[in-house]
Amino acid sequence: MNEVNAGRLSRRRGGPPRVGVVGGGLAGLACALRLARAGVKVTLFEQRRRLGGRATSFVDQQSGETIDNCQHVALGCCDRYLALLGQLGKLDCIAWHDRQWWVEEGGRTSVLEPMRGHRWLPGFASHAASFLRASFLSVQDKAAIATAMGQIALVDRDSHRDVTFGDWLAQQNQPASAIERFWTPVIVSACNGEVSRVAASSAMHVFQDGLLAGASASRIGVPTVPLVALYDAAEMLLTQAGGELLLGETVEALTATTVTTRACEWAFDAVVCAVPVEKARRWLPASDVRLVQLAAAEHSPILGVHVTFDRPVLQTPHAVLVCAGTQWLFRKDERGCVVHAVISAADAWMGLSEEQIVARVVDDVQRWMPSSRGARVVRARSVKERMATFVPTPRFERSRPGALPDGARWGEAVVLAGDYCDTDWPATMEGAVRSGERAARALGC
Ligand SMILES: Cc1cc2nc3c(=O)[nH]c(=O)nc-3n(C[C@H](O)[C@H](O)[C@H](O)COP(=O)(O)OP(=O)(O)OC[C@H]3O[C@@H](n4cnc5c(N)ncnc54)[C@H](O)[C@@H]3O)c2cc1C
Repeated sequence: MNEVNAGRLSRRRGGPPRVGVVGGGLAGLACALRLARAGVKVTLFEQRRRLGGRATSFVDQQSGETIDNCQHVALGCCDRYLALLGQLGKLDCIAWHDRQWWVEEGGRTSVLEPMRGHRWLPGFASHAASFLRASFLSVQDKAAIATAMGQIALVDRDSHRDVTFGDWLAQQNQPASAIERFWTPVIVSACNGEVSRVAASSAMHVFQDGLLAGASASRIGVPTVPLVALYDAAEMLLTQAGGELLLGETVEALTATTVTTRACEWAFDAVVCAVPVEKARRWLPASDVRLVQLAAAEHSPILGVHVTFDRPVLQTPHAVLVCAGTQWLFRKDERGCVVHAVISAADAWMGLSEEQIVARVVDDVQRWMPSSRGARVVRARSVKERMATFVPTPRFERSRPGALPDGARWGEAVVLAGDYCDTDWPATMEGAVRSGERAARALGC
């Protein structure tokens, strides 16, 4: 294990140890705050003028409003992400939903929820009654899904890294309709890849830690403020510990102990590289064995579409649109006039213009929620993230790098952090935070 080889960060040139963290996304932020808490002086470099990386917000020129690049949700099982929000004093900015609304074309709606008074029931059992009532699945689908869930609950997921979840579902004789109506929507939104691309271990992780871990673990947390507002306290926490946050500071190169910006070269006792995988690839020296591992990473796009209607269209906090191109809708105002649509693994949408995208989303909304017909679009904005996340393919799941190469010590090699590191989580905020914490642990903190 890398962390065993790591020495405790110590004074080298007198004064407290100094660490440069490059990248102010959740991985860099989690790392920097953990180091700061341990008394390390951290300089956090972020090229943008705001924190959060891929989980952030921007000011929409059209409306003047601060909107998220895309809706981000957490599950109750995202304990390290929630701990970070606790440190930032923002836990009360998450609204929790026990229920999931699954809507079929025409509007028929099934609610998946834990049984009232039986939240304590283990695993899928807490959701059994609503699952049996659900109308979007046939009796055969439900029986097959329940059987496969039983397998997933017991399986050692690590032994399923080499097979795709699609192949595993086929081995379990899952009907095509169960794959299309249940397994695919869950895995595409959680892993940002089709079941035919995602490693079975990654997909099983989603169920084992989420739905199968009970009612609290599987509840859905939706921020009630723009994502960027969650990071308000970060600068104060860093500076209180003697560190600094440099926003708008683009790093041009880094080594195990230096960071180069346009203005100067900075010397540190250790450097943490917390930029996305495609950028980290460019900065590691050719001698770093992790370069081969990083070469296995593949990306997948996500599309977020903000639409404001002139009247309410969405009555529930969110909705899964069963078998629609638009996968999830989130209600962004009290009345349900403002909605945010999310399409993961959105390859087929990337070539479309904003007009075409909005027309498709509006068509889905009207067909899946017939009561919305006649609602007029007041404003719309789509955000394409072409390289939104890595896909946890079997090849990459075998290759995800550690914070340090095996046997290396900090100060000798760049410390890596980022959702793509070997946390065992798909590309999520939770995975990013865990990777940041692991990087800090590799530095002995
Ligand atoms: C559209 C979309 C929807 C998503 N939905 C969800 C969701 O619902 N739930 C969930 O858990 N996860 C979701 N994710 C995934 C989640 O956002 C990421 O896994 C996570 O935020 C990655 O964090 P990170 O710190 O590893 O990387 P990043 O967030 O990419 O952070 C890297 C940081 O490095 C900075 N940087 C890059 N180059 C330089 C440089 N040269 N100098 C200085 N700084 C630099 C970047 O500006 C960025 O701030 C979604 C992602 C996307 C794109």
